[in-house]
Amino acid sequence: MSNIVAIVGRPNVGKSTLYNRLTESRKAIVDDQSGVTRDRHYGVAEWIGKQFTVIDTGGYVAHSEDVFEAAIREQVIIAIEEATVILFMVDVTTGITDLDDSIADLLRRSKKPVLVIANKVDNNKLLDDIHQFYSFGLGEIYSISSMTGSGTGELLDEVVSHFQEVDEEPSLLPKYAIVGRPNVGKSSLINALIGKDRNIVTPIAGTTRDSIHIHYNQFGHEFMLIDTAGLRKKTKVKENIEFYSVMRTIKALEEADVVILMIDAVEGMESQDVNIFHLAEKNKKGVVILVNKWDLIEKNNKTTKVFEDEIRQRLAPFSDVPVVFTSVTEKQRIFKAVEAASKVFENKTKKIPTSKLNDTLLPIIENYPPPALKGKYVKIKYITQINASSPMFAFFCNLPQYIKEPYKRFLENKLREHFDFSGVPIQIYFRQK
Ligand code: GDP
Ligand code: GDP
Repeated sequence: MSNIVAIVGRPNVGKSTLYNRLTESRKAIVDDQSGVTRDRHYGVAEWIGKQFTVIDTGGYVAHSEDVFEAAIREQVIIAIEEATVILFMVDVTTGITDLDDSIADLLRRSKKPVLVIANKVDNNKLLDDIHQFYSFGLGEIYSISSMTGSGTGELLDEVVSHFQEVDEEPSLLPKYAIVGRPNVGKSSLINALIGKDRNIVTPIAGTTRDSIHIHYNQFGHEFMLIDTAGLRKKTKVKENIEFYSVMRTIKALEEADVVILMIDAVEGMESQDVNIFHLAEKNKKGVVILVNKWDLIEKNNKTTKVFEDEIRQRLAPFSDVPVVFTSVTEKQRIFKAVEAASKVFENKTKKIPTSKLNDTLLPIIENYPPPALKGKYVKIKYITQINASSPMFAFFCNLPQYIKEPYKRFLENKLREHFDFSGVPIQIYFRQK
């Protein structure tokens, strides 16, 4: 079950400062990998072992004055529908404004938990000023300083206490989520796959309004499709179409085994696509990339290769992912996409026998052992695949802490080379033996 925490509030109260603080460590990793992911407004955060997605709504607001207030109000409504917990941020140094009041009016109708955050409480003297915010009628006020981080621990304790702990029911059928930016062709793909059966939609109990599940069972492939396109919402403000679709995408993604990420061939891979990709990777989901509207591209015999190389570069270091060039309208390679997703699911769930792992990898390790560190030699003794929902390997050795990132990557590459893990993130651990 996905837990989404949305930060709402008027501009300049400090939403993105808090967002950055909550997602800090992650951000550095993602930025290193892809270079251009600056306009990212959602990311993964963690508190006492609980992982969740944080959304900074401010990033989606229009800059022009006239639509501005309407946009913010609409975001609050979307957040109320979609988020698990809503953080309503206000600024202790400016006090209550009209816009704060009108946001509070909307939030009072929410059945979801709303936490009022008084930000910029940089010192204790300012604590006296937070009492005014009780007039919102939204309960307890959490005073924090996003800048220094003070008060955020207490706030996060409260946030995670609202998370739903759902024991994931082991799904009988693989779940594939079709995601991608608006207009990329998601609905068209689902129509092409399901055809006249499109109306036979199976809302799964407990997830009724979160996403639409469609049972696919044709040509030897059986799975559940999670449809994010079917639940299109009419928004008055253009920017919020993306905000809404991001919310839906995160939920569908977290529920899925394999994410079918559709990219518009004409527009190429944009930073939002890369963000979704990394979110899938972080959530240990299988991924297939579909480059759709391929019919609109003028081609020669190198075009596919050039496109594919470019995409893999953007995905690096996790670039071992199937890329399928589709035209949904021309019905080109749609079935190939289905096959690719099924193959990724197979890769994600397969178990390599311990003997096979060791017979393959130990000789390679022998030839190319981890570099010695401080005069100490690291000896990897054996390897097992751990029972988990995505591929995870334990390398038992004498000095696990001495193995560094490059060698870990080397091992991952060898695993990918010898056993097909295309489309699946791999986790590697070193354990003392
Ligand atoms: P947003 O528009 O709500 O996302 O607000 P920003 O995060 O961009 O912050 C607006 C301004 O408030 C920036 O200049 C921040 O540096 C500042 N700010 C944010 N948090 C704090 C805080 O805890 N204390 C103080 N003094 N300033 C802060
Ligand atoms: P969604 O918003 O992702 O669900 O996108 P839609 O399925 O509604 O498609 C948006 C538009 O793109 C529609 O006009 C489709 O007919 C068109 N479209 C979808 N797939 C293709 C394709 O492969 N090639 C071309 N040329 N147009 C496509």
